[in-house]
Amino acid sequence: MFEGITRGLSEALRKLRGRGRLTPENIREGLREVRRAFLEADVNFHVVNDFIARVEAKATGQEVLARVDPAEQIIKIVYDELVALMGPVDPRIPQRSDRPVVLMLCGLQGSGKTTTAAKLALTLKERGRKPLLVAADLQRPGAVEQLQTLGRQIDVPVYSESTSPVDVCRHAVQAAKRQLCDTVILDTAGRLQIDQQLMRELQQIDNLVQPDEVYLVVDAMIGQEAANVAKAFNDALELNACILTKLDGDTRGGAALSIKAVTGVPIKFIGVGEKLDKLEDFVPERMAGRILGQGDLMGVVEKIAAIQKQISEEELKKQQEALAKGDFTLDMFRKQFSLLAQVGMKDLLSRIPGMADMIPEGEDPEVALRRVQGIIDSMTRQERANPDIIDQSRRRRIARGAGVEVQEVGQFLKQFEQVRHLMRQMSQLSLWQRLKMVTG
Ligand code: GDP
Repeated sequence: MFEGITRGLSEALRKLRGRGRLTPENIREGLREVRRAFLEADVNFHVVNDFIARVEAKATGQEVLARVDPAEQIIKIVYDELVALMGPVDPRIPQRSDRPVVLMLCGLQGSGKTTTAAKLALTLKERGRKPLLVAADLQRPGAVEQLQTLGRQIDVPVYSESTSPVDVCRHAVQAAKRQLCDTVILDTAGRLQIDQQLMRELQQIDNLVQPDEVYLVVDAMIGQEAANVAKAFNDALELNACILTKLDGDTRGGAALSIKAVTGVPIKFIGVGEKLDKLEDFVPERMAGRILGQGDLMGVVEKIAAIQKQISEEELKKQQEALAKGDFTLDMFRKQFSLLAQVGMKDLLSRIPGMADMIPEGEDPEVALRRVQGIIDSMTRQERANPDIIDQSRRRRIARGAGVEVQEVGQFLKQFEQVRHLMRQMSQLSLWQRLKMVTG
């Protein structure tokens, strides 16, 4: 599926391998191959440019791990950036106790919407839920019968009536309550292409039925055009996620790599076959793994990840010793941050004095964490050890690497100064006093 990209990355690795130290020039030359491969895979032009700029800034800024070929390290950066490009994604489907959860599927005709509705019902059933399928596509001839047939195959009830799409959906929620179903899946009408009448009809259902989540079903075969379709639906309906179908076909990857970056809407599931059990959770790490292929490239990523893990454990120990002395650097700060994120202490994080300011009001802490990590990752070792040397041009390079505005880098550095100050004060306190500060 992603052969073109895999080939381009292998080629870049081959060209750069064994060169010892990499210069900005040969990093750029290697990334030219990567860029070409992405464009040939039909990834959106702006997405490719941003992606390459981030990889380049990180590759230029990174400290070279002694035991690793610098070219291999670039492959790891590409992998990490691919994961960041497609994620994060929340794999859960909401649950509620007051009424059935309503999931609204929308999409163009032929995208695989009806099939996906049945696939989703089967997935939910396997997870112990009681779904109800709703045949609200009164547009495409045969769609209602198709859903009824699919429902029978997986033994899931199908609600239908020949009134109007809005009425079908409204009454279906009542029917679900009567039948003690906990999740309603609406198979709404599509069109051959985006048109205003379709959007109005979907908005009407959205307003009257108030679905808990709205998913766009979109065909991966249309490449980066999928991102434009997603944008149009998202403008009208505020999508929660996309379900990308036909990834088993001859697609080059443009859709998978463009959708999140262009629209901000994550992919939540992927369809990988016509059969009803062919729906998978979308896992950015797994997809990035597929893109790199299973051979040489993934081996490189795994090797470097293991080395980085070992180094971070060693450093964490050093860090704790330094912290006890009152030293606090950006490197340590980043590790604290990712450690907190890993152990799921986002809540605690927001209560640590100073750190709370790094998470803007209403923003998902995980997104804020990623941004901060991105900023620190785009710095050189010297910059991390001594933030005072970060002048305007360095700020610009860091911002490019992290995909943020220059002001955000400045703002972060200011906040970091405050945290460092606080940490110094805290190091003077006893453990008990520190705990009291954190838990309020
Ligand atoms: P709708 O018009 O959006 O409701 O589309 P359908 O559900 O009728 O699907 C259109 C065609 O795409 C059918 O032939 C499906 O079997 C096929 N299809 C749907 N999802 C997938 C998938 O993940 N992989 C493959 N290969 N075919 C799929």
